[in-house]
Amino acid sequence: MNSTDLQFLKEFVDRFDKLFDLIRVVDPVKKQIVQYQNLSFEVLTSICYDYWKNDAHCANCVSYRAMKENDTFVKIEYNKEKIYMVTASPITLSNQTYVVEMLKDISETGIIPDLKGKTIEEINNIIDKLNKEVITDPLTDLFNRRYLNERLPVDLYDAFNNHTKLSFIMLDIDYFKIINDTYGHTAGDVILQELGTIIKNSIRKNVDWAARYGGEEFFVSLIGADSLSAYTVAEKIRKTVETKKFDFAGNTVSITVSAGCYTIGDHELTVEELLGYVDQNLYRAKQNGRNMVVANCQKSNTAI
Ligand code: GH3
Ligand code: MG
Ligand code: MG
Repeated sequence: MNSTDLQFLKEFVDRFDKLFDLIRVVDPVKKQIVQYQNLSFEVLTSICYDYWKNDAHCANCVSYRAMKENDTFVKIEYNKEKIYMVTASPITLSNQTYVVEMLKDISETGIIPDLKGKTIEEINNIIDKLNKEVITDPLTDLFNRRYLNERLPVDLYDAFNNHTKLSFIMLDIDYFKIINDTYGHTAGDVILQELGTIIKNSIRKNVDWAARYGGEEFFVSLIGADSLSAYTVAEKIRKTVETKKFDFAGNTVSITVSAGCYTIGDHELTVEELLGYVDQNLYRAKQNGRNMVVANCQKSNTAI
């Protein structure tokens, strides 16, 4: 961002001084911020989500959404002191898209009712619940496709920038259509929920994340994990699924899953390329007989 950009921003902000309590310009992938304080913009060393004292990416990142969908998005956040309405709006400066985040203190407005007497933890839970709905798949309680779309570019950026490992798993239920056709859609839904639970129990809480990618396809991001760890996690899920018994109207039913793993190498790649690679390995697992995990890493391209 150059000095002309900053001057432009200052004029913009000065005009809307009373509308917001805090204004900052965010790069939602790098998580870097330029904040308006003492009547000028300053580049901060802290990252955007530090403000919410969360220690982790905001699950509901309206800024990434604003950049990606070229529109304005709003959410409510809490920094353990005050409740803010966050308005995120895209802005192009020197041919690059950033997001202007405008924060307004709404603690006293009554938008979140009955706050008086509540503990910090209780308020946190109320706001977390509001944000969670936007990025959660209601059937499985895993993240939804929207979360995946908004989180993956950030994981990729972090891994390439910090030279850390990063692995992914894509899982798909084998012959799921037959289950639905034989035992009904409700039985199919029970299986999807159970698979969601098995996946959640097989990954590290607050480090890895899992999303329902589509109808009966699931996606897992394993932060810092190498290809062997990813293969091991996928195998653990596969074996747990294989041994699980369901009872549908007196019938004992079991299912299997196929999985493709992919570990990033030294070269940067786009979300689309990554999804293509992991899907190729899932396809190989299907082609080779199902109930199987196929893994490789970008660099060596050798199956484990
Ligand atoms: P394959 O081993 O090749 O993956 O075969 P498949 O039968 O699993 O694959 P296919 O793509 O033909 O079928 C996927 C099925 O998933 C079809 C659809 O009815 C079912 N499905 C998708 N979403 C849901 C859902 O939310 N609930 C239920 N019960 N079924 C779903
Ligand atoms: Mg499928
Ligand atoms: Mg399937």
